[in-house]
Amino acid sequence: MTETFFVGIDGPAGSGKSSVSKQAARRLGFGYLDTGAVYRALAWHVRHRGESTDDPEAVEAGFDTFDPRIGLDPDDRTVRVGGEDITDAIRTPETTAAVAGVAKTLPVRERINALFRRIVAEAPQPGVIVEGRDITTVVAPDAPVRILLTAHPDVRAARRSAEMGADDVAKVAEAMRRRDASDSTVVDFLNAADGVMAIDTTHLDFDQSVDAVLAAIDERREDGRDGR
Ligand code: C5P
Repeated sequence: MTETFFVGIDGPAGSGKSSVSKQAARRLGFGYLDTGAVYRALAWHVRHRGESTDDPEAVEAGFDTFDPRIGLDPDDRTVRVGGEDITDAIRTPETTAAVAGVAKTLPVRERINALFRRIVAEAPQPGVIVEGRDITTVVAPDAPVRILLTAHPDVRAARRSAEMGADDVAKVAEAMRRRDASDSTVVDFLNAADGVMAIDTTHLDFDQSVDAVLAAIDERREDGRDGR
């Protein structure tokens, strides 16, 4: 069996990461793995057990009984835990607030990373686009394609507000700033690590962002085929 072609894409909320990754996956016939959804699902699971994600032991105990079902189809975002469809529940403000506790529990991050690597290795597709915060640095530092998508914070806040149908851009910007600050204490997803290609989408529209990502992938696949 040939190895799954691994594309890692990191970036902050509003960088275009999710929508661009999904579209690039569709165009290539690749799988798409939303790692944030798995962090969110674990936060939901810990809360569902009546525990707080601020308690690292509760997060670890939660992982022991965590059986997430997440597909790689970019057009099917269904997430299940314990057979329950929690696709919408993982996007509520309560779950979003609770996910920081999960993200900070380092031993659990290692176990989650092992899960991501296994999902990619077992993927039926020829490649998978894996999107998150620490994919290019921790989960797959040797991946053939590693991209950091960035954008100016004002542009990110405007995109997030449009996505959420929210009128108060300032409020969304503040929530985003707080989440970025909390997440940045765990992983650096605002600066590209060595060998990671940074794509700034501030002045790119959606199609241009997708094309930039596809060009980066094409280049590395060509390299692979040439045996370079
Ligand atoms: O991408 P999304 O906003 O859905 O991610 C939700 C949260 O999951 C992030 O704010 C971060 O705390 C955490 N996360 C992470 N590492 C990843 C992906 C997400 O810590 N690779």
